Amino acid sequence: MSRRGPSKADQKAARKRDRAESRARESAEWDEQMVLEPGELRALLAHLGAELPAAGCGHSLALTRAWAAAHGEDWARLQPSLAHFGGSCDCEVLANVDPATRVDTWARY
Ligand SMILES: [Zn+2]
Repeated sequence: MSRRGPSKADQKAARKRDRAESRARESAEWDEQMVLEPGELRALLAHLGAELPAAGCGHSLALTRAWAAAHGEDWARLQPSLAHFGGSCDCEVLANVDPATRVDTWARY
């Protein structure tokens, strides 16, 4: 008699392993690609959330760049970092970078 695939317990263990692996990948990607500290990224996203509704997105990173200048962030490092996580204009930074980096799941910060 042959077994029909993995048991429920095996499937559960595999799902747990997959989640742990994907968290580890996200963590490594953050370490490699994100130049902001989580607190700084949260501050940037809060700034964009406050400014974008009134200013609108000019399909540029004007608001993000102004924030970087005001906070002494090196734009030459920050811009490609945000672009890596899908932020190539102000509204995309707000929409994409948070879910891509999952900064809100980083309880240790
Ligand atoms: Zn935009």
